[in-house]
Amino acid sequence: MKFDQIMVRYGEMALKGKNRHSFENKLHSNLSKKLRNFPAVKIKKTRDRMYVLLNGENPYAVMEKCQEVFGIQSLSFAVRIEQSEDSIKAAALYAMKEAEGARTFKISTKRTDKQFPIRSQDMNQILGGHILSNTEGITVDVHNPDVEIKVEVRQDAAYVTSQNYPGAGGLPVGTTGKTLLLLSGGIDSPVAGYLAMKRGVEVEAVHFHSPPYTSERAKQKVLDLAQEMTRYGIKLKVHIIPFTKIQQKIHREMPDGYSMTIMRRMMLRISEAVAKEQVILSFTTGESLGQVASQTMESMSAINDVTNYPIIRPLVAMDKLEIIDISRKIGTYDISIRPYEDCCTVFVPKAPKTKPSKEKALEYEQSTDFSEDIKEALEQKEVISFSQKKSSEAKFEDLF
Ligand code: ATP
Ligand code: MG
Repeated sequence: MKFDQIMVRYGEMALKGKNRHSFENKLHSNLSKKLRNFPAVKIKKTRDRMYVLLNGENPYAVMEKCQEVFGIQSLSFAVRIEQSEDSIKAAALYAMKEAEGARTFKISTKRTDKQFPIRSQDMNQILGGHILSNTEGITVDVHNPDVEIKVEVRQDAAYVTSQNYPGAGGLPVGTTGKTLLLLSGGIDSPVAGYLAMKRGVEVEAVHFHSPPYTSERAKQKVLDLAQEMTRYGIKLKVHIIPFTKIQQKIHREMPDGYSMTIMRRMMLRISEAVAKEQVILSFTTGESLGQVASQTMESMSAINDVTNYPIIRPLVAMDKLEIIDISRKIGTYDISIRPYEDCCTVFVPKAPKTKPSKEKALEYEQSTDFSEDIKEALEQKEVISFSQKKSSEAKFEDLF
């Protein structure tokens, strides 16, 4: 016997009333894209669930991928068998044996086909007895079992489902709009992007680099982060903006204490132009209150002053350790800690003002004309699109 399908349950989506259909369709399409390296897999939609039909693909490998798709609450392996006592017994025993680490169980039978001669309660007893006499050290616990094995006897066949695996939660990516993520090579911004995706937001990214002060490897690091983030976002487009000239000018002509504030304001101005062009309505950053000089309340206010776009800051109230935990979990941490210089660290002032004023920032900026530099940076932007790796590429990389 072998599991031949995965049952997909979606939680919060069910609450969305009228939008429900579009949410389901998005989930269906995201899931199919995610599973495109398993060509035999088919996805079936029913009224309130989806079933991933494995058609011989490896159940555990498919499950792992499904667990990275937002909008899914939980999943279980299932097997479809003929409607007979013997095959249901065999399937229930198999499901128990496959439930890793489970010491206690409960059987819940639902008989949709009333023609089936064994009543649900009796079926629970029969299956419980069958499992107890064919395993060791396993007991029944109807209140708090490690695994609840569900049996559904329908007209066409019987289905046996095993333990619940947690889904990624959230909402299907692409159902709540689009954001432009300011992606640095640090630990925080990829986590911020991941959390935005979790709320159903499609993410595009903008990255500022300052060659030759920042190396090719620093840029590659950001591209690797973007590639990694497609595990959750399906695809990710990165706009790389050359920022050297602007930074040099800030360094030369702006007061040292304000250079950080003004640099951030320039980043936001340029980002706004990119967002307009791409019809994106918000920004997302990895800022976390009080973490560094540019992230004090005064600083955020002075930086934010150049745009009316909402800035989503998913990490605003998180501690660094919590952020690191997430970055480890989502696989961006090891890339983020590669030691290459970021454009902000290269030009970091000795004593950045922790309480800059927006009026002063504007006053300083107006003493110099940045408009040509901004235009030029936008003209020279490079766009790189990422999508999930094909299995051949993924395998190739595993060799190293
Ligand atoms: P991160 O770990 O994300 O770099 P951080 O704690 O180092 O964050 P800062 O360097 O002050 O904090 O950056 C704050 C936010 O500004 C980042 O989270 C990111 O959203 C944005 N940002 C910083 N540098 C860049 C860059 N070179 N390109 C694009 N966005 C950037
Ligand atoms: Mg940084």
